[in-house]
Amino acid sequence: MDSNGLDSDGREFRNAEEMWREEVGEEGSKSQWYGTAIRYWEKVDATVDGVLGGYGHVNDADVAASDAFLTSILAERFPAQRDAPTAARPSRHLVALDCGSGIGRVTKNLLLRHFNEVDLLEPVPHFLEAARVNLAPENLTVPEMHRAANFYCVPLQDFTPDARRYDVIWVQWCIGHLADDDFISFFKRAKIGLKPGGFFVLKENIARTGFVLDKEDKSVTRSDQYFKDLFNQCGLYIYTMKDQKGFPDELFAVKMYALTTEMPRRPTAKSKSKRLSNRPAIIK
Ligand code: SAH
Repeated sequence: MDSNGLDSDGREFRNAEEMWREEVGEEGSKSQWYGTAIRYWEKVDATVDGVLGGYGHVNDADVAASDAFLTSILAERFPAQRDAPTAARPSRHLVALDCGSGIGRVTKNLLLRHFNEVDLLEPVPHFLEAARVNLAPENLTVPEMHRAANFYCVPLQDFTPDARRYDVIWVQWCIGHLADDDFISFFKRAKIGLKPGGFFVLKENIARTGFVLDKEDKSVTRSDQYFKDLFNQCGLYIYTMKDQKGFPDELFAVKMYALTTEMPRRPTAKSKSKRLSNRPAIIK
């Protein structure tokens, strides 16, 4: 990544390589980088306000935008879900993974409404324990038979999923904790966890240019271009993307990316003209 960046004290870096060299390279250490982040989160309350950095009131807008995004992609990619299930074509048993799940906020408010099973991956023990309580069947109002299945206390950089278990791997507000090389190897490993047709959703803060390093919690906010460079290196394609609306102005912009392992099929010239021919047209 060629663009320059900043840290939370306003110091400028010429490029991301310079920053990573200091933080996790020859001059820093990866175990310090990841350890500082875990120690930061260990001191944070296991509440919605805690995992949202004091912005618990954005939860509803966040969930509503994620729900609209996810619903439209599921309908497009797994259309059988829309039909009444039949014996010949039973509705797909949907499974999701919630990465950096914190206290299970995304699983509870979003994923369990759509998925039969959700696994949670979270390295901070007191968050995962809170998630177990929040997601206990007696504390849920989701369709019957939809359940939180597995709780893994593991960081993303050390996780390898079971092959072909997931329809969706949801990664929200945690990938900034991963150094670039671990970001790339995480997504490369996680691909094997997707079922055919499955996809990733990455929902993240976006820097206007380059990157912003938060020295306190050891995370990096990347620009849209920085993410696109990394997706390329992961061998992932943007199926669709959308901006989060309705957040307070002082926050970073937030984007949702749906990512696939196969190149999205664009309408061909032939299919396009066929579609247009079914609409009113001027006789020349
Ligand atoms: N995704 C949740 C939580 C966001 S808070 C939500 O939207 O509500 C950020 C989370 O990232 C915390 O739970 C923190 O413990 C987790 N985290 C920190 N380092 C991580 C790592 N290396 N791998 C996975 N998760 C990490």
